[in-house]
Amino acid sequence: MHSPHDPFVRVRGAREHNLQGVDVDIPRDVLAVFTGVSGSGKSSLAFGTIYAEAQRRYFESVAPYARRLIHQVGAPKVGEITGLPPAVSLQQRRSAPTSRSSVGTVTTLSNSLRMLFSRAGSYPEGAARLDSDAFSSNTAAGACPECHGLGLVHRTTEDLLVPDPSLSIRDGAIAAWPGAWQGKNLRDVLDALGYDVDRPWRELPQEDRDWILFTDEQPVVTVHPVREAGRIHRPYQGTYMSARRYVMKTFSDSKSQTLRTKAERFLASTPCPACGGSRLRPEAMAVTFAGRTIAELAALPLSELADVLTGSADSSETARVLTEDLLARIATVTELGLGYLSPDRATPTLSAGELQRLRLATQLRSGLFGVVYVLDEPSAGLHPADTEALLTVLDRLKAAGNSVFVVEHHLDVVRHADWLVDVGPQAGEHGGRVLHSGPVAELEGVQESATGRFLFDRAAAPVREVRTPRSWLKVGPATRHNLRGVTAEIPIGAFTSVTGVSGSGKSTLVGEITEDLPGVGRLVCVDQKPIGRTPRSNLATYTGLFHVVRKVFAATETARERGYGVGRFSFNVAGGRCETCQGEGFVSVELLFLPSTYAPCPDCAGARYNPETLEVTHQGRNIAEVLDLTVEAAADFFADTPPVVRSLRTLLDVGLGYLRLGQPATELSGGEAQRIKLASELQRVRRGHTLYLLDEPTTGLHPADVEVLTHRLHELVDGGNSVVVVEHDMAVVAGADWVIDLGPGGGDRGGQVVAAGTPGEVARAEDSRTAPYLARALA
Ligand code: ADP
Ligand code: ADP
Ligand code: ZN
Ligand code: ZN
Repeated sequence: MHSPHDPFVRVRGAREHNLQGVDVDIPRDVLAVFTGVSGSGKSSLAFGTIYAEAQRRYFESVAPYARRLIHQVGAPKVGEITGLPPAVSLQQRRSAPTSRSSVGTVTTLSNSLRMLFSRAGSYPEGAARLDSDAFSSNTAAGACPECHGLGLVHRTTEDLLVPDPSLSIRDGAIAAWPGAWQGKNLRDVLDALGYDVDRPWRELPQEDRDWILFTDEQPVVTVHPVREAGRIHRPYQGTYMSARRYVMKTFSDSKSQTLRTKAERFLASTPCPACGGSRLRPEAMAVTFAGRTIAELAALPLSELADVLTGSADSSETARVLTEDLLARIATVTELGLGYLSPDRATPTLSAGELQRLRLATQLRSGLFGVVYVLDEPSAGLHPADTEALLTVLDRLKAAGNSVFVVEHHLDVVRHADWLVDVGPQAGEHGGRVLHSGPVAELEGVQESATGRFLFDRAAAPVREVRTPRSWLKVGPATRHNLRGVTAEIPIGAFTSVTGVSGSGKSTLVGEITEDLPGVGRLVCVDQKPIGRTPRSNLATYTGLFHVVRKVFAATETARERGYGVGRFSFNVAGGRCETCQGEGFVSVELLFLPSTYAPCPDCAGARYNPETLEVTHQGRNIAEVLDLTVEAAADFFADTPPVVRSLRTLLDVGLGYLRLGQPATELSGGEAQRIKLASELQRVRRGHTLYLLDEPTTGLHPADVEVLTHRLHELVDGGNSVVVVEHDMAVVAGADWVIDLGPGGGDRGGQVVAAGTPGEVARAEDSRTAPYLARALA
C-alpha cells in the first residue's frame, strides 16, 4: 500500500505502445537512467507513461475542462502509478524555424540585461531613464521604427535583377520580371514609352537602366501589341511597374509561397541603416554599460560577456547586484559547454542538443524542488570532455531535491546513475519488458541485457586495417562562423570522422563540402531534419515503399472487380480515404489556453480509409492493418513480394525494424529520420564514388545499434564510396581511417584544425581535447 513516506515511484501494469504490462519501482530523489536498444520502450516508459501521467494529473488539477481533452487523447495505458511528483520534461524539440526566440530569451538572460541597462546604464546628459521594455526589439517601445525590430532591410541591386547584362530586354535581361503575359506586357509598355528593348542591357544609358529597374513612378501608356501567332491583339492601357517595385510587392504581399521564394532571390538583406542591425531605437542605443550598448553586449559569446561584466566592478550597488545575478546565470550555461553562444543567437540555428542543454541550465536557476525532471539523451552533441560537466549539472538538480529521470545511451552517463532501468531485450514486440531496475552494478548478472554487454564487457574493438585513400579532396580555405581561412583534406575512398568540442566548427567545416568541388561526384547529406512536417508523410511514403504496397492492393481480385486503382489506396487524395479526417486519422482538438492536440478521428478511429477501401485485403490484412505493421513484421508478411522485401531489408539493416510502416513523420526522432534517409540511400543502385556526409548519426542509438550502423557505413566505403561523419562517439571514431579534430575550444576559441591523421596519430596529439578519450577507446 502506498504511504506518503514511500520513497518510490511505483508503476503497475504499463501497456503504452510495446510495454508488456510493466511493473517497476524507481526511487525518488535519485538520478535514474533508462537504457535499452532503440525501440525497446524506454521513451514509452519514461515519457509515454511516467511523464504523461504526471502531465494528465496536472491538467486535471488546474483545468477541469481539460478532462474532455484527456478523455479524447487518451490517458497513458497504465494500471496505476503511486508516489509520482509533478514532472517537467526537457525533450529535444527543435523550435519553429520562424521563431524569434534567441539564446537570451530562452535563458531569460535578455530580461536581466535589459534590467541592467534600464537601472544601471550610463545615459546621455539630460536623457530620461528608460523602462526595461525600451531595450527589447520585440516591443513597440523598443523596436527600431525603420525596420520594425528586424534589424534588416531588403534591397535589390542591378546585379541581382539583371544577372546577364549581355541580353536585351526582349531576350529576358530583367530576370526578376514575371513570366507569361505580365512580363510581355511590361516589355511592351517600356517599348511604348520609347525605351530600346532590343539593345543589350549593358549598352543602355545608366540613367535609363536606373529608371527601368528602380523608379517609383507608374506611368500609363497605350500599348499596341504586335501580332503574335497570327492573332491580332487590341490596343490597351498598360501600366509600368519597376522591377524593384514588382519584387518588393511580391515579396511582401503575395499569397503564393512559390512567387515569394522567387522574389526573394532578387533581394539582398543588408543591416538596417537606421539601427545598424541592432533592431533598437536610437534612444536605447544611446545607453551604455561598461562602455558598450546592449546590442554589443548581446552579440558577445557568453564567456566574453562574463569577462566584461566582471571587469565592471567599480559601479553602483544596483549594478553590482544585477551583474552578480547575470554572472551566476551565465556560469550555468558556460558550465554545460555552451559559453561560445551569444545571447542574440537565434534558437532555430541551434542544434536540438544545444537547445536542450540551454533549457537545462535555465532550470537549474529556477529554484524548483520536489519535481521529477524527464530528459531525453542530454549528452547528444556533447564532446566526451564536456560530459563530466553535464553529470555535475544533473547532480545539482538532484541535490536541490528533485528526481532526475534520463533516457540515455552514453555509457559514462549510465555508469554515473544511482539507479538503472534497463528495457528490452530487443525492439518493438521483442522488447517492452524491464530487464533490470536497481543499482548499475547489478546489471552484470542480467544475461539478456544488450546494455550489460557494453557496460561490462571490455572486449577490444575489432582490429581493422586502416584504408589507404584513393585521393584527397581539398576543402577551403573556409571563412565562415568561427572558421578563419581553414583548409582541410578529406580522403576519398575512406571513412573520416570529424571531432571536436561543441561549437568548435565541425558542422561549419563539413558544410563547406559541396557538389561543385573537384573530385566530388554525387554528394549525399544524410541529416537529422524531419522527413516531413505533417502526419501525411511517413516511413512508407518517404521510402517509396507505399507505392509498391498500393500496387499490391490494386492487383487483388476484389480491387480489380471493383475497379479500384492504385490511387484508391492513398490517404492523400479523395476516393479511398476517410473524408471526415481527410485521411489524417486524427482531428485537431482546439482548447482555450492549451496547445492544440490531436485526437483519433471519430469516423475511422485512426484507420484513415473509408469502410469500402478497408474491405479489400491482401493475405487477410487491409491497407490500414498493413500500415500498422512494424518493418520487421512486414518483412515476413511481404516475403513473396521481392521489391517490398528489398526496401524493408535496408530499413532492418539500419536498425529500424521496430518502426511501423505508417508511423507519421511527426512522431520520428531526428536520429530515426536520419536513418530512414540512409536506408533509402542504401536501397538505390550504386556505382561507388558517392560522398556521404552525416552529422552525429549515432544520436539516439544504443551501442548495439551503433555497431550495426557503423558496419553499414563501412560497407559503403568498401563499395568504393567515401563517408564523413561528425561524431562524438569514440567507438566510431576509433574505427575510422582518418580523423580531423577541430578546436581547441568552442566559438572564437575554436575553429582550427588541431590534429588530423589516423585515429592512432590523433590519439597522441598534444593539444587535442579529443586525444585522451580516443586513446581510451583504442586501448
Ligand atoms: P525507445 O525509446 O526505447 O527507442 P520507444 O518507447 O520510442 O522506444 O518505442 C517502443 C515501441 O513503441 C516501438 O516499437 C515503437 O515503434 C512504438 N511506438 C513509439 N511511439 C509510438 C506511437 N506514438 N504509437 C504507436 N507506437 C509507438
Ligand atoms: P560544432 O558543429 O562543432 O558544434 P558549429 O560549426 O555548429 O560547431 O559552430 C561553430 C561556431 O559557429 C560556433 O561559435 C557557433 O556558435 C557558430 N555558428 C554555427 N551556426 C551558426 C549560425 N547559423 N549563425 C551564427 N553562428 C553560427
Ligand atoms: Zn532598424
Ligand atoms: Zn477518419
